Amino acid sequence: MKDAIKCKHCSSSNFCKKGFRKTDYRGKIQKYYCKNCKRFFTNDEGFYRMRFNPKTITMSVDMYLSNLSSRKMRNQLTRHFSIKASHMTILDWVRRYSLKVHKFVENLGYNLGNHFYADETEINRLGHRDNFWACVDWDTRMITGIHYSVATNIKEATVFIQKSVSKGKPKYIQTDSAQFYPKAFKKLFYSNKIGGLVVEHKIQNVRKTKIHNYKIETVFMKIKDRVHDFRGLKALWSAPIIMTGLTIQHNFIEPHCNKQEFPCNLAGVDLGLKENRWLDLIRMSSR
Ligand SMILES: [Zn+2]
Repeated sequence: MKDAIKCKHCSSSNFCKKGFRKTDYRGKIQKYYCKNCKRFFTNDEGFYRMRFNPKTITMSVDMYLSNLSSRKMRNQLTRHFSIKASHMTILDWVRRYSLKVHKFVENLGYNLGNHFYADETEINRLGHRDNFWACVDWDTRMITGIHYSVATNIKEATVFIQKSVSKGKPKYIQTDSAQFYPKAFKKLFYSNKIGGLVVEHKIQNVRKTKIHNYKIETVFMKIKDRVHDFRGLKALWSAPIIMTGLTIQHNFIEPHCNKQEFPCNLAGVDLGLKENRWLDLIRMSSR
């Protein structure tokens, strides 16, 4: 992907470098002068007016989403870098950049396989039993869609399945035998609401067949384990955003354990991310 800088005001690429803007926390930032609209701009790359260094921010987001609580992350920053950021600030970074990157990656083109697996799991949120829904592509291990809800019913299942096929339609989606799925599939695929292509619904009744999909279940387990580490989630407005962050972490940041490959790459999306994958993703999302 090209690193094309454009004028923030008029999107022109007819500009030149002109001086620097001094910032308190991010050093000197290159200033540009647009010859088209005759205005100055900087290429802030997603960190405009942030009071901390991009490396501190991306390390915190990465570590929070991989295994560290926001309070532990705060303590590490103080101990090793004498950086004073509150745990709420760290959570704000996680939410802000999860949303930003989510908007960007949702619009990329993916090359997904033909077999998807969808499942839902309970999430503890201050004593409430919320639901987290996720759909995984068998070939790439890419999480194709997620959904967060307080109830499980046909309406929520329909929204979830619709999200799950937004990046590509498989031949079939396999689910457990929960009763709301057949009706959701009927609503979506057999009354011609999504295009003309029909997606087959396969039901795996584990109790009857005793067959588990271990490869897919490891993906769900990894996400579930992380949520368990949080000791549940707190605010209903925040919970889906954190889950979105975990999905980005799975699809783009951490290589698949035995394959050493990233689900996004397996799905044909090569963004050329370097070591600090969150930093590169945020920069790309800010152009
Ligand atoms: Zn301009």
